[in-house]
Amino acid sequence: MSLKRYREKRDFERTDEPGGGESKGRKSGGGKPIFVIQEHAASTHHFDFRLEVGGVLKSWAVPKGPSTDPADKRLAVPTEDHPLDYADFEGTIPEGEYGAGTVIVWDKGTWENVTEKDGGTQPAAEALEQGHLLIRLQGKKITGGYALQRTGGKDAKWLLVKMDDAEADRRRKPAKTEPRSVVSGRTLEEVAEEAEKDQAS
Ligand code: MN
Repeated sequence: MSLKRYREKRDFERTDEPGGGESKGRKSGGGKPIFVIQEHAASTHHFDFRLEVGGVLKSWAVPKGPSTDPADKRLAVPTEDHPLDYADFEGTIPEGEYGAGTVIVWDKGTWENVTEKDGGTQPAAEALEQGHLLIRLQGKKITGGYALQRTGGKDAKWLLVKMDDAEADRRRKPAKTEPRSVVSGRTLEEVAEEAEKDQAS
């Protein structure tokens, strides 16, 4: 149900993105929910931040990508839920299709909900509904606490902000200095070149 918008936007005869049918099951979470950050060279370059919640990937487009500096408030624009299989998608979406451009798996791992309410943990779906979720990420590039905060009403924008914890680092700037896929080791440019070669042959 939640993936209806995802499917409506795409022609699976043309794009190699997963169809969002029955999930093939949990991939790498080992019992914990997964997160993925995909770098996407679409008409405007951005990072897609996705968290597994309730069997789908809740998604935000983050133009500048995640920061490791708690002073940076990174804009995060909600986008449609994606299927869990999308966490492994790396490739080029053809011209004319939704999101045309190249995607790499920039970071991936597991996450933990640390949103507190009444002395316990508030369920993630409820916290998202209320516009405030605190998480701990365990990825290869991005680790530690982050806040996802809605800035206004229902359709408003969100902010993704690093919590000031042991993993905070004001100098790292990974979105700029760590460009390779954590899955294939390739850059966006290398994936795009391979897609061009495949088309030519
Ligand atoms: Mn995108």
